[in-house]
Amino acid sequence: MFEIVFHPLYNELRELIEPKPVFETYETPLRTRVIWEYFRSRGYIPSDFDKQGLINNLDIDLRVKKPSPLKKKDILRIHSPYLVELVENLSDVGYGEIGNLVQATCDTLDIALLSAGGAYIAIKDVFESKCNQSFALIRPPGHHAIRDESDGLCVFNNIAVSIAKLREECNFKGKIACIDIDCHLGDGLQKIYYEDPSVLYSSIHEYIPGESGMISEVGAGDGKGFNICYPVPLEADDAYFEGYCRFLEPYLEKYKPDLIIVALGLDGHWADPIGNLSFTSKGYAFFAKWVHSMANKVSNGKVSLIFEGGYNLAVLPHLAEIFLCEFTKKTKYSPFEDYMFPYLNEQKTENSEIKKHNQNLKDELDPYWE
Ligand SMILES: [Zn+2]
Repeated sequence: MFEIVFHPLYNELRELIEPKPVFETYETPLRTRVIWEYFRSRGYIPSDFDKQGLINNLDIDLRVKKPSPLKKKDILRIHSPYLVELVENLSDVGYGEIGNLVQATCDTLDIALLSAGGAYIAIKDVFESKCNQSFALIRPPGHHAIRDESDGLCVFNNIAVSIAKLREECNFKGKIACIDIDCHLGDGLQKIYYEDPSVLYSSIHEYIPGESGMISEVGAGDGKGFNICYPVPLEADDAYFEGYCRFLEPYLEKYKPDLIIVALGLDGHWADPIGNLSFTSKGYAFFAKWVHSMANKVSNGKVSLIFEGGYNLAVLPHLAEIFLCEFTKKTKYSPFEDYMFPYLNEQKTENSEIKKHNQNLKDELDPYWE
């Protein structure tokens, strides 16, 4: 069973009213809405939620579940009282800057608690084997948020808040591999788990000189070796995406996580208005298949996908569909660029370049993995 966790309010709340487009307006209710409507038009989601908050499509072994918002006390396991109060106060006012590139609206607190609630249910249901895999179709994203600060369109760190709740309330003591494919480093997740060997955090992201996310950032203290950064050059194509999977594979096999969480940012696509990479549907399909087979190999098939970035409203439905099709196995996705820009599917980066890239990283990491 593949479970999508979704709430109709994601399609409505926290719309920024701005006289002119600003960066913050990229994080819009349309992001989940276009995916949801597309899934409906393809017949994956055939009916409305029932009284239990469920929609079933047994033909393709798919279920949709409506989440509840988390409570403020859940958020406080990761974030400071200062940040929670700031989000609450500015939501009451209806505007103001919560953090870098995070503007408040009157419903910011509501949507942020609901977003974290969606991530939590998606992860918990996989952990408790209520489904094999899950996809939290949520917003706003979370991977940039740290203890005291909302940042980069993220209010609360949905994944970290969910892991903390699962550890405390479900007595989950196992290991988690968090694979972040958003084109930006999930610096919030990296900071939160930097010294924690129970969460292996790994990210493929744009190389930005002077910013964090370098290969030398391998973790600290007990967490040394369990932070794996895979920076790639701007405009990196699918060869890097596939190279990343091949690179990470032996580390996952050694680490043997009980659960894989994918921070599913979809802004690495070539047509994304914020991201600077050149991945295509083919790259995402490779990743989906790879993470599915890795989960079968190391974590008893358990993988939970948590929506992060991704801002091209024409592309998002097609990329999300790739993951749905991989995990339900009964449908075939229609890739975005295959019918518009087929030439983009040609790989440009030489394999030797990827090999060199992977070797440099291996040299940095391997001393901690003996
Ligand atoms: Zn991003």
